[in-house]
Amino acid sequence: MVKIAVIGSSSMDLVVSSDKRPIAGETVLGKSFNTVPGGKGANQAVAAARLGAQVDMIGCVGTDVYGKEILDNFCKNGVNTDNVEPVTDEATGTAHIILAEGDNSIIVVKGANDRITPEYIRRAEETIANADIVMIQQEIPEETVECAAELCEKHDVPLLLNPAPARVIKEKVIEKCAYITPNEHECEVLFGGADVSYMLKKYPNKLIITEGKKGARYFNGVEEVTVPGIRVHAVDTTGAGDTFNGAFAVAVSEEKGIHEALRFANIAAALSVTKFGAQGGMPTREEVEKGAD
Ligand code: ATP
Repeated sequence: MVKIAVIGSSSMDLVVSSDKRPIAGETVLGKSFNTVPGGKGANQAVAAARLGAQVDMIGCVGTDVYGKEILDNFCKNGVNTDNVEPVTDEATGTAHIILAEGDNSIIVVKGANDRITPEYIRRAEETIANADIVMIQQEIPEETVECAAELCEKHDVPLLLNPAPARVIKEKVIEKCAYITPNEHECEVLFGGADVSYMLKKYPNKLIITEGKKGARYFNGVEEVTVPGIRVHAVDTTGAGDTFNGAFAVAVSEEKGIHEALRFANIAAALSVTKFGAQGGMPTREEVEKGAD
């Protein structure tokens, strides 16, 4: 069983659906309301755990009801939460999502996720040092990502950075990562609009660009390779990227090789989009293996 440590956000998605999006000062009646555990860190942790990895979450929640629900959800999915501290003076992170008129509007309140500081993750240094791979995203402070890169380098543990949401990353952090997995838009932001093929060549077998249903692209040292996506009837693509990252981390840690790991990740992510919800569609190991036949 591979050991994966995930440093990242956990939040509760509060989802309202309505026929109409209210304008400033207006009140409208909604159709439904749901709460769903989310946050990129939590999603990626659950994705990897469903695929059979031993997963340690390093994160932070509030002591409110959402924090408790998030911890219960980790427990239900077999994710270890010894390094998820409930803090009393911040609320659990929330995403306030309005689904209306065929599109979504989202306000994210980072809350306790902002407490995932460099000092905080240093307290989990032993967990990081013992992992086969560490996964991190950018819904937490920038200094924490830098600190994670340093800790991973110190302990010779590969770091997978999923640079979402997009922001420019210092070259010294990029150098310390084993894998970086932006989507096309994030890639543009990450490298200030530099030519994608040039960047892929600059970071062979490290920079992996996800391209939605088209799959994922990387440079293998000789040529640019696209590992094609799997054709499915997509119902909800929320969390496709998180499933992809969780699955890729599991597969590369099993020493599958980058190409095979990307195929595994494409299958897992494709299965995830056939069901509703970010975590709702995340497949089990058996489902991915069946999908590979
Ligand atoms: P999201 O933010 O929606 O979670 P993302 O923008 O980070 O996703 P994408 O490039 O859209 O990332 O998707 C990640 C991976 O998910 C793709 O590389 C592919 O394997 C899979 N995927 C996404 N959409 C589809 C789809 N419609 N059909 C099949 N596979 C898909």
